[in-house]
Amino acid sequence: MKFVYDFAEGNKDLKDLLGGKGANLAEMTNLGLPVPPGFTITTEACQQYLHHGTHVDGLAAQIDEHLAALEEKMGRRLGDPADPLLVSVRSGAKFSMPGMMETVLNVGLNDASVDGLSRQAGGNDRFAWDSYRRLIQMFGKTVCDVPGHEFEQALDDAKTAKGVHDDVQLDADDLRALVAAYKKVFVKHTGHEFPQDPREQLDLATEAVFRSWNADRAVLYRRQERIPTDLGTAVNVVAMVFGNLGADSGTGVAFTRDPATGEQGVYGDYLSNAQGEDVVAGIRNTLPLADLEGLDKKSYDELMQIMATLEGHYRDLCDIEFTIERGKLWMLQTRVGKRTAAAAFTIAAQLVDEGVIDLDEALHRVSGAQLGQLMFPRFDLAGSPSSLTRGVGASPGAAYGHVVFTSQRAVEVAAEGKPVILVRRETNPDDLPGMIAANGILTSRGGKTSHAAVVARGMGKTCVCGADEMVVGRDSFTIGAETVREGDTISIDGTTGRVYLGEVPVRPSEVVQYFEGDLDPANANDPLVAAVHRIITHADSKRRLTVRTNADTGLDAARARRFGAQGIGLCRTEHMFLGDRRELVERLILARNETDRNEALAALQPLQRADFLEIFREMNGLPVTIRLIDPPLHEFLPSLEELAVKVAVAHEQGQRVEHDEQMLAAVRRMHEQNPMLGLRGVRLGLVIPGLFAMQVRAIAEAAVALAAEGGRPRPEIMVPLVGAVQELETVRTEAEKIITSIVGDSGVDILIGTMIEVPRAALTAGQIAEAAEFFSFGTNDLTQMAWGFSRDDVEGAFFWRYLELGIFGISPFESIDADGVGRLVRIAAEEGRAARPGLKLGVCGEHGGDPDSVHFFHEVGLDYVSCSPFRVPIARLEAGRAAVTSEGSDHR
Ligand code: PEP
Ligand code: MG
Repeated sequence: MKFVYDFAEGNKDLKDLLGGKGANLAEMTNLGLPVPPGFTITTEACQQYLHHGTHVDGLAAQIDEHLAALEEKMGRRLGDPADPLLVSVRSGAKFSMPGMMETVLNVGLNDASVDGLSRQAGGNDRFAWDSYRRLIQMFGKTVCDVPGHEFEQALDDAKTAKGVHDDVQLDADDLRALVAAYKKVFVKHTGHEFPQDPREQLDLATEAVFRSWNADRAVLYRRQERIPTDLGTAVNVVAMVFGNLGADSGTGVAFTRDPATGEQGVYGDYLSNAQGEDVVAGIRNTLPLADLEGLDKKSYDELMQIMATLEGHYRDLCDIEFTIERGKLWMLQTRVGKRTAAAAFTIAAQLVDEGVIDLDEALHRVSGAQLGQLMFPRFDLAGSPSSLTRGVGASPGAAYGHVVFTSQRAVEVAAEGKPVILVRRETNPDDLPGMIAANGILTSRGGKTSHAAVVARGMGKTCVCGADEMVVGRDSFTIGAETVREGDTISIDGTTGRVYLGEVPVRPSEVVQYFEGDLDPANANDPLVAAVHRIITHADSKRRLTVRTNADTGLDAARARRFGAQGIGLCRTEHMFLGDRRELVERLILARNETDRNEALAALQPLQRADFLEIFREMNGLPVTIRLIDPPLHEFLPSLEELAVKVAVAHEQGQRVEHDEQMLAAVRRMHEQNPMLGLRGVRLGLVIPGLFAMQVRAIAEAAVALAAEGGRPRPEIMVPLVGAVQELETVRTEAEKIITSIVGDSGVDILIGTMIEVPRAALTAGQIAEAAEFFSFGTNDLTQMAWGFSRDDVEGAFFWRYLELGIFGISPFESIDADGVGRLVRIAAEEGRAARPGLKLGVCGEHGGDPDSVHFFHEVGLDYVSCSPFRVPIARLEAGRAAVTSEGSDHR
C-alpha cells in the first residue's frame, strides 16, 4: 500500500487520503507556487497505526525513500551536523480541526546540528539556539506528554534571572542555558535523554501526530462538529523555512476576500522577524498585511499575484499562511477559507455576480445549518456588554433574564411575567418544569450532548453548557471575583456560548423578517437578504421534494405558509383535547355507558370542526394531513401519584371525594407500564367506539364548509401507529361511510392514508398500501421501535456514552439512521409503490427538517418532507441542494 506521497504526486481532490493541508500543499506545488518541498503520510497510515497501536508495515521504508528524495532536492541531509535539513511535522485531517492536533517544528536539530544551523543562518547563534529550545519544548509536550508549564516556567526563570520581560531580549548564551534547562525537564518527566537521532525524532513526532487524532479535545471537537471518528489524520513533513531570520523575514496570514462580508481586498496580518506560532500566540502586535508593501515590495507583489491565482483556481475565498525567509516568499498553507454563515451566503451570491460560479454551485457553497443559524435572534453588541464567561453554545438563540437556581424558582418567577435564566451545575429530568418556564438555560458542566443541551434543543430554547469557570452555589454563582446572585440579570448567547452581565438587547433575524414578508429582498440594503432570496429561490426551482409543515394551529399554519410550506404534512390533534376541553375528555374516559360517551363526543365534535376549518382556511388550496388522535388517553387524566395521595389524605380526614375516587379508579384501570407501546393511535380508535368517527366527521364537515365558502380544502386523513393492514381497513371502512354521507356532491375529495411508524408496517408495506392512498413515515416512533430506545428518556440519559464510543456520531432521533431505520423506510417505499403505483410518500418525523436526512429522503424518492415551521426554509434549501448534488459529492 502506498502510504507516502510527494507533494508533486497529490492534488486538492485527495483530501480523504492526504488531509486538507496535504492535498492543498500538493495542489499549490502543482500550480508552480513556491511551496517548500515535502511529503504527506496518508490518513490510511494513521488509521492502521491507531488500529494496531504500533508501527505500520512498510511505512518506514517509504519514509526513507521520500526523505532521501527531499534531501536530494534540498541538497541537505536531515540533521547533518555541518549543514542540516530541518523539517516540520504537521497534522492535517480531511476536515479542518483548528488547533486540535499537533505540530512539531525544527525536527532534525540536536547538539551537533545546532551549530550547522547557526552557520546556515550566517553565524546567527541566537536563532539556532532559539530553534533548538523550541524543538525540545514542542517535542517534549507533544511526543512525550511533558507538562508544558514546566518549560514555560524555565523560560520565565531565564527572563527573571536576566531581568528582562521579552523572549527576544534573551541572547544566544541565555538560550544555550535554556536548552540545558529544558533537557533537564525532559529527563525528569521521561526518564531518558532528549533523542539526538534526527530520524528517531521524525518517527516519534509522526506517531505523536497520529495519536493526537484521539486526544480528548480532538474527540470532543469531532463530536460537536459531527466529523466521523474513523478518518484519521495525515502527517505533512515539510522542509523548514524560517520567518525569524531578521528584518527581511517574517510570517503572515491572509484572506483573498473579507471573510465577514465577502468584499475583495487585502485582508490579513503580518509579523516581521517571527515564526507562525508567534502570530497565533499574540506575543507581538501584527501589522496589517497592506503594510508589507512598504517593507518588502517584491514579496508583497508576488503574494498578491498568488492570491489572485488561488482565488481563480479554487473559485472561492481562500485563506493562506505564508513565510518570508530573507526576502523569499514561501506558501505554507491554503484552504478554502472558513466564514460566518452570513458571509457564506453573500460570498456565494457575489461569486455568481462575478461569473465565477453558477447558481447550482452557489447552492453547494451554503448549507441548511448556516441558514438555520441566520434565523435565530442575535444580541446587538453595539453597546459592548460586559462579558462574564464563555461555555459551549449548546442550543442557539439569544436570551436574557433574571438568574434563578432552581426549577421551582424558575416557574415562580416566570409566573410573575419576568424573563428567567435557569442556572444549574447540570440539569436532570426533575428540572424540566423550570427549563420550560425559563427563557434560557446555563450550566457549568457538560457539553452539547448533556441533558440540558439535548432537552433545550428539543424545546428550541437557548442554552449554554459547560461554562466551567463558573462556580454554582445555592443562590449565587461566582466567576473569579465576580458574584452573580438570584435576581440579577444576565444574557446568554446559545450560538457563541458567551455569557454577559446585564440585559443585552436582542435583534430579530433579518432573514426571518424576510421570510415573514417584512423585508423586500429587492429593496433591502442588506446584501444578506438579497443573497438568501436568490439562493433559496434557486433551490426551489431545482428541488424535487415538496416541503410541508407540521402545524396544528391556524397561527402556525399561516407562518409556515409564509415560510414557503406547501401544505401540512402532520396536524397532530392531541393538543386540541387539552385546556378547557380536558373536562369533556374526562367525561369521555369516565363514561359508564354509550349514552354518556356519545354525549361527550357530540360536545367535542363542533369544537374539532372549528379547529379544522381554521387550518383548512389558512392552507386553502394546499394539502392538509390530519392525524387522528394518537397518545394514550390517560395522558389527559391527572397523575396517578398525585390523585392517590389526594384521595388517601381525604380518606384519612374522613371525607368522601366521589369524583376523585372515580377518576383514580379510571387512572388505575388505564395505567400502562409502557404507554408508548400501549393503547394509543389506531388501537385507541378501535377500542373506544365513536372517537375516530367523531374526528372524521369534523374533518369532512369542515372541508364541506370551506368548499361552501368558495375555498379549496384538500384534507388527508392519517391513521397513526398502524402495524397491520386489517387495523387500517377497519378504520377506513367506517371513515369512508361517514365521508360519503357528508361530502355528497360538494366536490370535496378526502384521501385516507397511514403513518408508517411501526417496524411491522414498514415490513408489510405492500399489504398496507392496498388500503392507503399515502404513507407518511413517522421516523420518531420508527426510530424508537427499530432501536428499542425510549424516545423520551435515552437522549438525556445515556447517549453521551454512545456518542463517546462512536456507536453513532449523532443521535438517531436527530438525523436518520440510514442503515437501520432508513432501510425500513426504503423497503416500505419500494414495496408500497410496487403494490400501488403513485402512492404518495412523505415523512413527518423530526427528521423531515434535518439537513442530512433531507438528502436521504430525496435519494429514497419520497414526495415530500414535513417539518416544524422554522425549519421549512432549511428543508427547502437542502432539498434543492440534494437535487443538484452530484453523485458521491459531500454536501456538508
Ligand atoms: C413520529 O412518530 O415520527 C411522528 C411524527 O409522530 P409523533 O412524534 O407524534 O409520535
Ligand atoms: Mg408517532
